[in-house]
Order: sequence, then C-alpha cells, then structure tokens
Amino acid sequence: LLSADFLHLSKDIEMVNQSEADWFHLDIMDGVFVPNISYGLPVVAQIKKAAQKPLDVHLMIEDPDRYIDEFVKSGADIITVHYEACKDVEKTIQMIREKGVKVGVTIKPKTPLSVLEPLLDKVDMILLMTVEPGFGGQAYIPESTDKIRALRKMLNDRGLTTDIEVDGGIKKDNLEMVLDAGANVIVAGSAIFKDDIEKNTRDFMEILKKRQA
Ligand code: ZN
Repeated sequence: LLSADFLHLSKDIEMVNQSEADWFHLDIMDGVFVPNISYGLPVVAQIKKAAQKPLDVHLMIEDPDRYIDEFVKSGADIITVHYEACKDVEKTIQMIREKGVKVGVTIKPKTPLSVLEPLLDKVDMILLMTVEPGFGGQAYIPESTDKIRALRKMLNDRGLTTDIEVDGGIKKDNLEMVLDAGANVIVAGSAIFKDDIEKNTRDFMEILKKRQA
C-alpha cells in the first residue's frame, strides 16, 4: 500500500479487494530504523475496516517489541520484524506468536543469510528485502536472486516449506526469475498501483499460476 493513493485510500483498498491479490502489504517506517516515515497505527486500523484480505504488516521500526501489541490490536494478521532492529529477535518472534498472529522475520540486502539459520523453524515466513528498505519505487538488486535461491536451499535441506516473501522492485519482467529462485510470496507496490490495479494484479497472478500449473 506504500504506492497507493493516500488521499483516496478506500478506493485503492476496494480495488485490491476486488483483485486477485491475496494480502495487503503494509510498510511501517519509523524514521529511525529507516530514514523515511510512512504511516502508523490509526491508519492501519482504518485500513483494517475496509480490507477484506489479511494485513501483512512489515515493521521497519527500531525495537519493534514496543509496538507488537498495538499492531495486533489494529488488525495485523501477519507481523514481520527486521532481524537488525530487534534486541533479542527470538524473544520478539515468540512475543508475536503468543498474540496468535503469524510471524515473519526479514533482513536488509547487506545482511547475510547466516543470521537467519537459528530462526528458520521458528517463523511462518522469511522476507528478503530486494531493495534497501525505506522507500517505494526502487530498482530490484540483482544479487537478491542468488540469496533467494540459497535461502530456499537452506529451507529444503531442513525439510521446511516456509514462505519466502520478496519485497522491492518486483515487476512483470523479473517476476518469473524470483519465482524460479524459490520465492512464493510477492510484494508489489509501484508495479500494481498505477493505471489499472485489477489488470496489473491479474497479469501478476497469471504468471504465478502458470508456474504452479
Ligand atoms: Zn515491505
């Protein structure tokens, strides 16, 4: 939703409701962990009222423990935290799980996959940032593809079918590449929220379904 029209948010939410997209992805930025500020709890609570699909909340905030409870109350269905932003990431993961919502962990492009090793069996989803977090509309970092592939292998080696979500710069022309590498949850912002949201989403889903067939 970072690329949605904030003056007419309900219109864009309704278009996503009507589209084939599965989730709403909400990027929460605090101006500390990332240089930008996006939107906060009251906006999430309003989105929840209009959204007919799960809210996938990506917390780009320092020490997220402070806000887990409030994001759950505001309607988050999935909460993903940054490894780099947590004081004790295992404790944070446990805290989210105890609230009864799904939990994800994410790393910035320059953080090595090895830090995720002890967490692989403790989360529902791993989000790989494919741009530097903080701004919409950036270009996909090409090195991300090897990272997706390596993460899928780490999961396969452990018999895990954990979701791999990718976030940043995914467009129709690199979608197949990230799917081939092993990603199965695709975040799209600027590629969706321009011109015809329903058509853009349909085009994305066609490529996804072709892969699964
Ligand atoms: Zn995100």
